[in-house]
Amino acid sequence: MKKTVFGIIALLVLLGAAAGYFFLTDGEKPLVTLLPDSPKVSPKREYIVEAADSGSGIRAISVMVVQGDKRITVLDKTFSPSPPQAGEAFTLEGAGLKDGPFEMVITATDNSIHEFGGGNVTEVHKTLTLDSIPPVVGILSQAHNVRQGGVGCIAYSVSEDTESTGIVVGDLFAPGFKLPNGHYACLFPFPVTMEPADFKPRLKAVDMAGNERIVDFRHQAVARKFKADTMNVSDSFLQSKMPQFFEFYPGMNDLLQLYVTVNNDLRRENAKTLRELAAKTAPELLWDKKSFLRLPNAAPMAGFGDRRTYVYQGREIDKQTHMGVDLASLENAQVPAAAGGKVAYAGFFGIYGQAVVLDHGLGLQTIYSHLSQIAVKEGDQVKRGDILGNTGATGLAGGDHLHFGVMVHGIEVSPIEWWDQHWIDDNVADRFK
Ligand SMILES: [Zn+2]
Repeated sequence: MKKTVFGIIALLVLLGAAAGYFFLTDGEKPLVTLLPDSPKVSPKREYIVEAADSGSGIRAISVMVVQGDKRITVLDKTFSPSPPQAGEAFTLEGAGLKDGPFEMVITATDNSIHEFGGGNVTEVHKTLTLDSIPPVVGILSQAHNVRQGGVGCIAYSVSEDTESTGIVVGDLFAPGFKLPNGHYACLFPFPVTMEPADFKPRLKAVDMAGNERIVDFRHQAVARKFKADTMNVSDSFLQSKMPQFFEFYPGMNDLLQLYVTVNNDLRRENAKTLRELAAKTAPELLWDKKSFLRLPNAAPMAGFGDRRTYVYQGREIDKQTHMGVDLASLENAQVPAAAGGKVAYAGFFGIYGQAVVLDHGLGLQTIYSHLSQIAVKEGDQVKRGDILGNTGATGLAGGDHLHFGVMVHGIEVSPIEWWDQHWIDDNVADRFK
């Protein structure tokens, strides 16, 4: 009896040790991912290969390419100590491959004692096509006379499918969109803060392999003069307007300091949100190319691009550019949608107070701000003239008015062009034919 018990215990210990060997040592192969994952590749494209192994860590990663009887190692990297995950970048630029099919073999080895100490090996084979030819672009529209603070629109063709295409202006990228006729159209801004000498829009197209073509096109930068305006910030304005911002800047009790913070930091944050809303624009035009509707019976109070100097008790406290048009009608006047579209945002929007943003597609959007009431919600489809809400003085507004703004890819542009059917016909509508 004792012997049997002893035997069972001995067997259990042995089993435990065996199980321990398999559980405590790493029998799992590393996980391998390759980005980007496209069947066509440009020799210049940067690849990132990642390998992960939570057991014993990554000992080595290598990448080899095979074409005909050529075998070229493009990456061979060992790690000591072995990290749980490792990523390496490489290109095929020096591999000397010809355009056409080739095979890529990615090998990742972990630091396990399995396979007689050689480690567990993952081998990934990919059949890919090398493509070194950038796409060919053709400019289809004629004149591109763009006013400072205004918008240009270009129609063009691209010889193959694109991964990304649009107009580069300074640090900005305005995406172009493929139309049902197979051509592309792109709305691009001439930012009001950019000097005409710096406005050099260029057309960019990147094919699915990552080959990039960048071309200049005929354009003219039309300089504009902007009004200078002084805004007097009074104590009564601070007392009535600043409490709505207390919750965003807890502990900041000095009203003037809070005002300058809101007018700078919150303004910048709101501008970033506009660009985020623009990134979700519809890939087709939701607007019928009719001139935008303006708030009826309204007198303009302030123009787009006004260079504002803010003064408190005779002292300059801030400078900003006014990015819309201020229109004053009756108090609580009904605000119509300037054009058909979809509600991209409805609610409190920082300096704009209660505001509605409409998306008209292809990066074109409008904002209606300082509203007292909002009558629509995010996702609603609206037609030109549908009522979005009522004017008010929420946000940084001294009195009841509508601050109306037009954005192209989130960059605020002059609304005046969009109220002008001739401008639309000559500069935008004919690009869609
Ligand atoms: Zn305004």
